[in-house]
Amino acid sequence: MILYTRRVWYNGAMNEYGVMMSEHTSMRVGGPATVFCEPADEAGLILCARAFFRAGMPYFFLGNGTNVIVRDGGYPGAVISVLAALGGAEAKPGGRLTSGAGMSLARASRVAAQAGLSGLEALSGIPGSVGGAVYMNAGAYGHNIADILVSAKAYDILDGKIIMLSNAECDFGYRTSIFKTKPLLILSAEFALSSRAPGEIERDMAGYARRRGESQPLELPSAGSFFKRPEDGYAGQLIEAAGLKGARVGGAQISEKHAGFIVNTGGATAGDVLALAADIKAKVKARFQAELEEEPVIIGI
Ligand SMILES: Cc1cc2nc3c(=O)[nH]c(=O)nc-3n(C[C@H](O)[C@H](O)[C@H](O)COP(=O)(O)OP(=O)(O)OC[C@H]3O[C@@H](n4cnc5c(N)ncnc54)[C@H](O)[C@@H]3O)c2cc1C
Repeated sequence: MILYTRRVWYNGAMNEYGVMMSEHTSMRVGGPATVFCEPADEAGLILCARAFFRAGMPYFFLGNGTNVIVRDGGYPGAVISVLAALGGAEAKPGGRLTSGAGMSLARASRVAAQAGLSGLEALSGIPGSVGGAVYMNAGAYGHNIADILVSAKAYDILDGKIIMLSNAECDFGYRTSIFKTKPLLILSAEFALSSRAPGEIERDMAGYARRRGESQPLELPSAGSFFKRPEDGYAGQLIEAAGLKGARVGGAQISEKHAGFIVNTGGATAGDVLALAADIKAKVKARFQAELEEEPVIIGI
């Protein structure tokens, strides 16, 4: 078992060892975490989570950081990256695929494709980890992770036990799951997939990737669609209809390519991003009486 803590930042004073969360999130904003650790295996990860919990220190599990905004003052606690500890995906008999929570969804999808297992095609371009996708019930093009998940293995921080959750026990909803309300560390997930020729799966994955490239501002840092889909229509359509496309605060801008995305045009702070988001919400509410809700998880001070 290998456990290590990379660099430390103490009591509000950033020092040269501070790990900026802008380095670990796709929005490329955010101040330092008090402690950032990246255990190398599952045992180390559990030990680490348990130790911070027992010490009463706030902790946050980080996947690929593609749906997290950390405020500029940083995270006053331990950010625990799961990526190194929870890798690996494996096709199993009966059309099953198991994947570690730290595996990227893209790589897990490729493992499935090579084994002739279909079901992850539409999700393959989501840039997060399998654990992050389960936590968020990520979805795209009419498909959600909940549609294919059989079970999730998790570590219950309070009880100190490893548990298995069925699909129903994961309590999935639109971009939500039980993992948002209970202190559980997702370790791995099992998916039920169907047989299909690898070439056809890969062709569809390439098609979905092309659609993403055409409609999303992938060339600039972002956290994906910034707002959840409101009851009627799409956030991007409301934002565009409110005449806000291209609006900016500092280095944060509403993408010219897709009004549902806030992009970092260079040098944006979390303050810029959140001020722009607040402005969008106020203007969309005033114009259309629609309440927009942020999709990314926002943490820090
Ligand atoms: C360009 C772009 C396009 C995107 N497109 C889509 C899309 O089409 N559909 C979509 O749904 N999302 C999309 N997203 C958002 C994002 O990729 C997904 O929400 C993804 O599932 C987040 O995974 P992650 O590993 O990055 O999670 P993170 O951002 O690291 O974390 C998200 C949340 O999950 C929790 N978490 C992560 N791993 C674990 C774990 N192992 N155990 C417990 N909690 C955990 C974190 O604590 C955090 O609260 C997009 C983002 C970008 C930047």
